[in-house]
Amino acid sequence: MYTDLHLHTTFSDGTYSPEELAAEARRFSLVAVALTDHDTVEGCERMRAACTREGIEFIPATELTAEIDGIELHMLGYFLDVENQALLKAMRRFQQGRQDRIREIVKRLRKLHVPVEEEEVFALANCKPPGRPHVARVLIQRKVCATLDEAFERFLKKNRPGWVPKEKISATDALEMIHHAGGLAVLAHPGLARSEEAIPSLIDAGLDGLECFHTKHSASASEYYVGVAEEHNLVVTGGSDCHGMNKGKPLIGTIKLPYDYVRQLKERLGSDHPAWQAARERAW
Ligand code: AMP
Ligand code: ZN
Ligand code: FE
Ligand code: FE
Repeated sequence: MYTDLHLHTTFSDGTYSPEELAAEARRFSLVAVALTDHDTVEGCERMRAACTREGIEFIPATELTAEIDGIELHMLGYFLDVENQALLKAMRRFQQGRQDRIREIVKRLRKLHVPVEEEEVFALANCKPPGRPHVARVLIQRKVCATLDEAFERFLKKNRPGWVPKEKISATDALEMIHHAGGLAVLAHPGLARSEEAIPSLIDAGLDGLECFHTKHSASASEYYVGVAEEHNLVVTGGSDCHGMNKGKPLIGTIKLPYDYVRQLKERLGSDHPAWQAARERAW
C-alpha cells in the first residue's frame, strides 16, 4: 500500500492532465495520491473524479512559494477545503503575479534578441499559474535551447539574464492560510536550496510536517529529516514531485511512501475533519 503526495498536472507546470496522472498512479498501484499544483487547487475537482474512477484515494493539496528570514521555500498544504474563499482569493493574487512575471521574463529575453512572444508562452502554459518551465518549453520549441536544463542554465535560473524573482508570501501567512482552509502545512523538499535553515522559525509558526522523502533527497538526507520530524513532533510526508514528461522520464512511481503516513496525516487533522468523513464513507 503505497502513496505519492507530491504531483503536478497541466493545471500548473506538469504535462499530464489529471486523468492521465490518475491512470499513471493506477499503473504504479498507488492507493492514494495528493495533487500539489503550484498556486492553484483548480485541478483538484477533475483529479478527484479521475481517482474515484481508478479506485484511488485523493488528497486535495497545493504547493505555495513562501519566504521566512529571507529564505525562499515551498510550502505544501494538504487536505485543503478547495472552496475556502480566502485561499482562492490569495491564489488568484499569486496567479496574477505569475502572469506578470512571465511578461517581465519575456521582455528581458526579447531584449537579448531571443525570439519569444508573451502570447506564445501563455498559449503553451494554458493555465492560470504559468511558470519558468513553460518559458523553457517555448525556448525548446523555438530551437533556442535543446533541453529544459539548458534553458534554466542560460536564461531562467537565479542571476541569469531572464531571471525575475517571484512574488512570495511570508511563510507565517502561508501557514495561516493553509490552516484556515482546514489543511496541514508541510515544508516541501527541505533538502533543496536553503529551506532547512527555515525549519526552527517554521516550527514556531505552526508547521505540521516535513517532506522527508523526495526524489532529490539522498537516502541519508531522508533519514536525517525523519529524525528532525520525530524530534519536533512533525508528520512525515513524501512524494516524487512528478511534472510528467517535463524532464524526459516521469518521476511518478519512484517514491513509494507507505500508506501509513497518510493515516498519520489524518490523525493530525483531528477526528472532526471532513477528510475522516470521506474515509468513513469508504469504509462502509
Ligand atoms: P517557477 O515556479 O516559475 O519559479 O518554476 C519553478 C519550477 O521550475 C520548479 O517546479 C521546477 O520543477 C522547475 N525547474 C527548476 N529548475 C529546473 C531545471 N533546471 N530544469 C527543469 N525544470 C526546472
Ligand atoms: Zn513545478
Ligand atoms: Fe517545489
Ligand atoms: Fe513541486
